[in-house]
Amino acid sequence: MNPWIAKATMLVASVVMIAIRAPHGRRSRLVKVVKSRKGTMETVLLSLAWLGFLVPLIWIASPAFSFAEYPLRTVPLIAGIAFLAVGLWFFHRSHADLGTNWSVTLEVREQHRLITEGVYGSVRHPMYMALLLYSVGQALVIPNWVAGPAYLIAMGILFAFRVRAEERMMLDQFGDQYAKYAARTKRLVPGVW
Ligand code: SAH
Repeated sequence: MNPWIAKATMLVASVVMIAIRAPHGRRSRLVKVVKSRKGTMETVLLSLAWLGFLVPLIWIASPAFSFAEYPLRTVPLIAGIAFLAVGLWFFHRSHADLGTNWSVTLEVREQHRLITEGVYGSVRHPMYMALLLYSVGQALVIPNWVAGPAYLIAMGILFAFRVRAEERMMLDQFGDQYAKYAARTKRLVPGVW
């Protein structure tokens, strides 16, 4: 199958992801940050996330990763598109539910409210779940051993290193309210973990 189908799919998915985030990012930036836990680790993780997002775009636009190409097949392509779509839907829902409480890094904003409804009703990290689903989709759609898994690796590392620090920050900020919320929800997979 022509790899341009995968390229077009990833281009559309990337544009949709940016379009979902852009207005929320603009609105959140208007609300003052009152606490920040952005240390060296966060800077490294954010750079990694950007790199994981950019590598597929480099793959679309240039032959840089042509040495790692393999043939595109129908089943992984269709499965990948389904993962991308579900990931983007949850990405949209988590941004909508989080509102201006969202930050790209570990921050507490002025009048920060703990969100426990909507997609936050059953898992504490629906946005990371969305990004992981999206990156599995990307790994399936892109027939390239470098560009395919790039975002999945970046998101896996981000999740592994950030979640504990984020939950600690939320517990410090919201105390008992967060402890109760954590006790009745799962981290990533509803009802499982
Ligand atoms: N981990 C969450 C949010 C990612 S955005 C998810 O995957 O959906 C990261 C920022 O969101 C954190 O800095 C924190 O300020 C904020 N945040 C995380 N969980 C929150 C919640 N339940 N309510 C309000 N803000 C939250």
